[in-house]
Amino acid sequence: MSTDLSADLDAIALVDHHVHGPLRGSVTRAGFESFITESDRPVPPWMTQFDSQLGIAIRRHCAPLLGLPVHAPAEDYWAARAEFSPDELTRRFLGASGTGHWLVETGFRGSEILDPAGIRQHVDGRVDEIVRLETVLESVAPGATAGGLVDAFRDELASQAAGAVGLKSIVAYRYGFDFDPDPPSDTEIHRAAGAWLSSGDVTRVDDPVLLRMLLWEGVRTGLPLQLHAGYGDPDVELHRCDPLLLTRWLKAIEGSGTDVLLLHCYPFHRNAGYLAQAFAHVYLDVGLAINYTGARSSAVIAESMELAPFAKILYSSDAWGPPELHYLGAVLWRRGTAAALNAWVEEGEWSRADAVRVAAMIGGDNARRVYRLRDD
Ligand SMILES: [Zn+2]
Repeated sequence: MSTDLSADLDAIALVDHHVHGPLRGSVTRAGFESFITESDRPVPPWMTQFDSQLGIAIRRHCAPLLGLPVHAPAEDYWAARAEFSPDELTRRFLGASGTGHWLVETGFRGSEILDPAGIRQHVDGRVDEIVRLETVLESVAPGATAGGLVDAFRDELASQAAGAVGLKSIVAYRYGFDFDPDPPSDTEIHRAAGAWLSSGDVTRVDDPVLLRMLLWEGVRTGLPLQLHAGYGDPDVELHRCDPLLLTRWLKAIEGSGTDVLLLHCYPFHRNAGYLAQAFAHVYLDVGLAINYTGARSSAVIAESMELAPFAKILYSSDAWGPPELHYLGAVLWRRGTAAALNAWVEEGEWSRADAVRVAAMIGGDNARRVYRLRDD
């Protein structure tokens, strides 16, 4: 039997445990390039975002799905892509990803991307929803009073969570992980709610007391709680998104029964691996970083498999927007995981059977257990 694990990896029906919708409509090249960087600044006229690990990976792996040779020039790629409708691109790329179950977070720029019902129309796999806590609070804020805000939030969260498999917090974006790890008092919440509601703009909650309230309310539901960690757009102050800053809060909620899933984590994925080893309720992925590091993603994947027990690592693409990202995340994860495991098997450090088993755990089994997914 060949030691090469590529075919075993290709055969895994992935659970993409953190992903967003593909684009609803067509996009200009400038718009597309803005979606293949985490920067929200305009791409300077003297460069193209195709000249990046992600851009080269798109030309390498996505071009054949549009009938082009691998490494087709960016201009050829763009001309070929323009011949397809948004729906056809979605069917082509999501269908080719080999993903069997999508856990879709709907809270970010939801009007531009397909919602779970829209995704279901284009894929054979199952689609479930993850609810973003901050978006729920922002949806009930107009018309709420300082004394009634928490109850309004609880009612809306109960309604939305009833149809969801997990929750998500972006406290890393809105404040940072260096927040007070204790639950806020009713007095603190009342004061913070009053100040926020009277500020004249309740479209974006960034008050640390209210963000802590959301985290503790999320923990109370018992649903798995995803936390953005590490790398993201310039809205984050990256030095405040190291998951090690969560250590005291993670200890405070230990025993609550709620699992915490640290998303992306790059470049702090080794720190996240430590937390996943130290605490039974902590998990990690390196989702966003897999696409963005392209040909180097095999190294990031291997690093994510250092300290963390293998029952604590999950696959995700964190794709948002261009459906290339939904496909590429899966391709690069399969390739990077196969590369890491192949090396360890060939060195005689791992058995082939263990490698196949661990790949299946990370590719889907762990997510099915943590999110209590049915019928996969
Ligand atoms: Zn995301």
